[in-house]
Amino acid sequence: MTLTLPFDNSYARLPSRFHARQNPSPVKAPGMIAVNERLARDLGLDAEALAGAEGAAMVAGNLVPEGAEPLAQAYAGHQFGGWSPQLGDGRALLLGEIVSPDGQRVDLQLKGSGPTPFSRRGDGRAWLGPVLREYLVSEAMAALGVPTTRALAAATTGESVIRDGRALPGAVLLRVAASHIRVGTFQFFAARQDTEALQLLTDYVIARHFPQAGGALALLDAVVAAQAQLIAGWMALGFIHGVMNTDNMAVSGETIDYGPCAFLDDYHPSTVFSSIDSQGRYAYANQPQIAVWNLAQLASCLLPLIATGESEAAEAAAVEEATASIQRFAGIYQAAWIAKFGAKIGLAGATEADRPLIEDLLTRMAVERADFTRTFRGLAEGRARDEFTDPAAFDTWAPAWQARLAQEAPGAEARMAAVNPAIIPRNHRVEEAIVAATAGDFAPFHALNAALASPYDTAPDDPLRAAPWPEQRVQRTFCG
Ligand code: AMP
Ligand code: MG
Ligand code: MG
Repeated sequence: MTLTLPFDNSYARLPSRFHARQNPSPVKAPGMIAVNERLARDLGLDAEALAGAEGAAMVAGNLVPEGAEPLAQAYAGHQFGGWSPQLGDGRALLLGEIVSPDGQRVDLQLKGSGPTPFSRRGDGRAWLGPVLREYLVSEAMAALGVPTTRALAAATTGESVIRDGRALPGAVLLRVAASHIRVGTFQFFAARQDTEALQLLTDYVIARHFPQAGGALALLDAVVAAQAQLIAGWMALGFIHGVMNTDNMAVSGETIDYGPCAFLDDYHPSTVFSSIDSQGRYAYANQPQIAVWNLAQLASCLLPLIATGESEAAEAAAVEEATASIQRFAGIYQAAWIAKFGAKIGLAGATEADRPLIEDLLTRMAVERADFTRTFRGLAEGRARDEFTDPAAFDTWAPAWQARLAQEAPGAEARMAAVNPAIIPRNHRVEEAIVAATAGDFAPFHALNAALASPYDTAPDDPLRAAPWPEQRVQRTFCG
């Protein structure tokens, strides 16, 4: 069986300063870990061929498929607020793009495929842990309805990778994205005052992602709206990205670059898991304001294109328009938040007037260390009070909630069960799957991945619903 992929590589056709041509570095012994057959079929690919020896060789980087034009994308970025004028794909390669049967153009990218001109001091590799984490979490996010990059396949390399002095199994992820264009991609050209490239990039992103946008300002509006919706989606699931640097924010509005990401167990707004986020910059509750900060960086990149001339008046007008665009984030985000959290407590038609009721519940959850996922699911199953250290904290909230539900159409339980997942990729389960796989046992990974495909629909006694015991609780997550 021959693996054929219908590549059509529009990014490779952009000028050479957008990227660096680079082939993947071959590895010792490619071994397929997993192929996402459902996604392969949705993309019009031959899942069987992908699962075969040629597929494994391609994912591991030993075979560059016909029509691929591997390249590392150039980008810059603010990391924890500090500026880096050149980052770029240091361990990832864009193989190219394909257009799916339903007309969606997507990137196929290898992550962990060897050094590139942007690797700096890095080895260009990934170890099994982060590859499996991204596979599990990105696929779970897709099943939960959050825009995200996808995992199409993962392979082991038969080589080890050194992390913190430990030799760990190497792996490569084949991921799919609407595109890998980041806020940092715009920053790369803005920092070089390359207005021609900025214009090309803007036109490219409009054509590819926001064809209804008429120009740079409309593009900014569209990215602001997409990010406001995305972050509201994260918040409603208790998801913490962990590294919201501008180079890890995709302009398409998809969740991208899963590193030390994690889901809340106990609800607390200031929760941080990432070992490198010592200041809590990317804590759960900070995510909306960080998105705004990142979008303001995008806005300043676009100013020369928004301005209708080079006069001071034209520049001042551009600043005003861009500022107004960024300020629209708050309204879009708040409306999405109310709709999502309203739905989580069973309200089909939640409005701003329902905010105090929702916030009161969250405050009580934080004080009583209630598990985020179990509490909201528990509302649908009549057992939410069990999640509170002192169930009276729930009991004194519930009457106002019941009174509000009485104004809604019947069927609140079913509505809540449809939006409040029973299972999410809990940190201790992801960790458990990684530890087993590192020792050669991939069964827990496959079982967890299969279960996460149906997050709303699982037996009441499914052990994956359980919150971690204190000794199972993961306190820190790492970048890999
Ligand atoms: P991240 O925060 O993981 O998205 O990565 C930030 C930057 O570091 C990007 O430019 C990555 O390509 C680069 N990078 C991360 N890990 C490695 C590695 N092992 N080798 C080379 N570059 C890396
Ligand atoms: Mg080049
Ligand atoms: Mg990144």
